[in-house]
Amino acid sequence: MSDSELRYLSTCPVGCNAPLETTAYVLPEGALLRCTACGQLISQCSAARYWQSMQEFDDPQGTLPVTGSEQRRFRRSKSFLDKIAKLLGQPAEQIRLLDVGCSSGAFLNTAVKLGFRAEGVEPAPKAAATAQAAGLKVHQGLLQEAGYADGQFDAITLFEVIEHLQQPQELLQECQRILRPGGILLIGTGNAASWSMAAMGARWEYLSIAKHGGHVSFFSPESLASLGQRAKFTVAAVHTRGVRFYEKGDCSKPIYRIAKLAAELLNIFAALLNKGHDMAVYLKRS
Ligand SMILES: [Zn+2]
Repeated sequence: MSDSELRYLSTCPVGCNAPLETTAYVLPEGALLRCTACGQLISQCSAARYWQSMQEFDDPQGTLPVTGSEQRRFRRSKSFLDKIAKLLGQPAEQIRLLDVGCSSGAFLNTAVKLGFRAEGVEPAPKAAATAQAAGLKVHQGLLQEAGYADGQFDAITLFEVIEHLQQPQELLQECQRILRPGGILLIGTGNAASWSMAAMGARWEYLSIAKHGGHVSFFSPESLASLGQRAKFTVAAVHTRGVRFYEKGDCSKPIYRIAKLAAELLNIFAALLNKGHDMAVYLKRS
């Protein structure tokens, strides 16, 4: 078997039929590859390493916020939900929302609290069980196996899902099928065209499969728009935020503090220019 057959990703996940080139971003799994058509960055990790890293991250706590960050998490989730309601022009009570990859249900819980008719789907058994135990409506398994009806939802959210997939097009096509015409698909993922990536390169923690299990495919606003177009979505809005020059422990404490202050100032400009490292792309179903 050749190296590319052992790799988890051997072609551009966006669906381009273009050659991949080697970049100077060297991770423990090898240099990141770049699609010469859409610019997508791709890990060379093996399929075995990918599945091993995914196993390590199935825990009952899932995405539940650590104590002290609940308020911040709630505000962030609320800003996504407010934007979805605004784009749809509907009140929360009328919006049927599906959170795909809902983990232990942190986002779903906020959506339900704010009045959305929200449910979730999650393949990881322990995380799904935590969400169900909290009284949330969650299907444990893959979206494609859940059997939702055509046009059943007004909105779908996909947080921290798409950077894991070999063929995200299949997932987007299923989202297209179960969304009503004019429905909104919100995709949250890292931004490889961010200033944090430009400053830190391979040191950017988001790229680390050891710290973020299963992260293998890194989007920019452009490559995500291209993926959306292939599944017949148009871009309704793009929001990015967050700038970092150092990860904690990469430099001395005083330098880290100064860099953090500078990054907070730059955050305003990053958001205006779509250069933040946290990216939210709102796609509209045709
Ligand atoms: Zn591509």
